[in-house]
Amino acid sequence: MEGNRTVRILVVGGGPAGLFFSLLAKREVPTATVHVREQNPPGVTYGWGVAFSESAAEALRPAAPDVVDALTAGMSHEQMVLSLDGTDVPVHVGRSYLNARWALLAALERIACEAGVTVEHESEAAVTEADLGDWDLVVGADGVNSRTRTRFAEHFAPTEELGSNWLAWYGTPRAYPPSIILRNSDHGLLMSHASQFSPDLSNFTVEVGQETFDRLGFGDMTEEESRALCEQLFADSLDGAPLRSNHSPWFRTTFLSCGHWTHHNLVLIGDALHTVHPSIGSGTRFAMRDAVYLTQALAGSGWDVEVGLKEFERARKPVADAFQAAAKRSIDWYEGLPGRTITHPTKFALEYLMRTGRVSYRDFRRRNRDVVLGYERDLR
Ligand SMILES: Cc1cc2nc3c(=O)[nH]c(=O)nc-3n(C[C@H](O)[C@H](O)[C@H](O)COP(=O)(O)OP(=O)(O)OC[C@H]3O[C@@H](n4cnc5c(N)ncnc54)[C@H](O)[C@@H]3O)c2cc1C
Repeated sequence: MEGNRTVRILVVGGGPAGLFFSLLAKREVPTATVHVREQNPPGVTYGWGVAFSESAAEALRPAAPDVVDALTAGMSHEQMVLSLDGTDVPVHVGRSYLNARWALLAALERIACEAGVTVEHESEAAVTEADLGDWDLVVGADGVNSRTRTRFAEHFAPTEELGSNWLAWYGTPRAYPPSIILRNSDHGLLMSHASQFSPDLSNFTVEVGQETFDRLGFGDMTEEESRALCEQLFADSLDGAPLRSNHSPWFRTTFLSCGHWTHHNLVLIGDALHTVHPSIGSGTRFAMRDAVYLTQALAGSGWDVEVGLKEFERARKPVADAFQAAAKRSIDWYEGLPGRTITHPTKFALEYLMRTGRVSYRDFRRRNRDVVLGYERDLR
């Protein structure tokens, strides 16, 4: 927006996408009013730790080096373990940084508020056409179940694909290196993704196919009963440690895309607009990159919202589509696992690391020569 006119921006949702966009927008236009409405009280959120790869951190650094410093100051890992029925295959992967989701949000909110953004908690927003007239720009960053997207569904034309596996996102005090744990059991394949993200806590996501879910009767259990049974099923790996819940019901992932990204001066970003999948550990980065592209597009248009939003979609969509395509390959691989018999731990490790098509056999071999040589010997 030209001259001295103050830009008025309403952001719905104080997750990574909404808070990061608010911060970047406020820094771009210090005179702007940037107001975030978040339904939860401060410090309340779902989930446990989230991972950030080194490349994700470096991609975000130019936009806000202080934010990236805050998000890379804690726990990090360079190795991961693929564990099949108790046999562990340790492999070298790129560095990843981990943060408790609540700590990541607190850091983003603190930095955004220091820049002059206002965040109104316990404020559940239901955007209307009238709101679009009251604000220069309205950003729907209200997550995968976005009410903003639903309210304007005929304009955004969303398509949603429900995954076939069931997941529950727990935490545990047992320290895990980033690990994919597979157990062939009488009930079918049990899968977990575990990773330490703070001195005393690890993620522990449990994933099962529909048949196993039904056989174990999870559909008729309370959240607490499911947690207790998962603790029992993974007792050997947990080694006596408990599983803990944080709003941890069973869910199936939604793979979401929108045919259109904007409606007048309303735009969706983050999970509200498009999702990847927990198995590629990149949803937060994906959401925050939307914030970067949106700010750049608006700044490039001199804050002409109509022009800026068109440019956002033009510049961001091809990159986002390619990322979603990689996520889809990961989803297909995971969802195919319950129907297969997996017996070779190194083959499983290789398949896992190459599942998105972004790591080749040659890349894997370069980083993990001993693991690959052992596997090639087994094949002879
Ligand atoms: C099991 C699991 C593991 C994951 N692991 C990782 C990982 O390791 N690394 C990673 O990068 N990503 C991971 N993710 C994905 C990541 O959590 C999301 O992709 C990311 O949080 C999306 O950010 P967002 O801001 O778009 O949405 P959200 O984080 O969902 O934020 C949306 C916000 O909007 C608020 N809100 C919703 N409706 C309203 C309303 N009507 N009014 C006001 N406020 C509202 C919500 O309370 C929330 O605070 C994982 C996800 C899952 C489920």
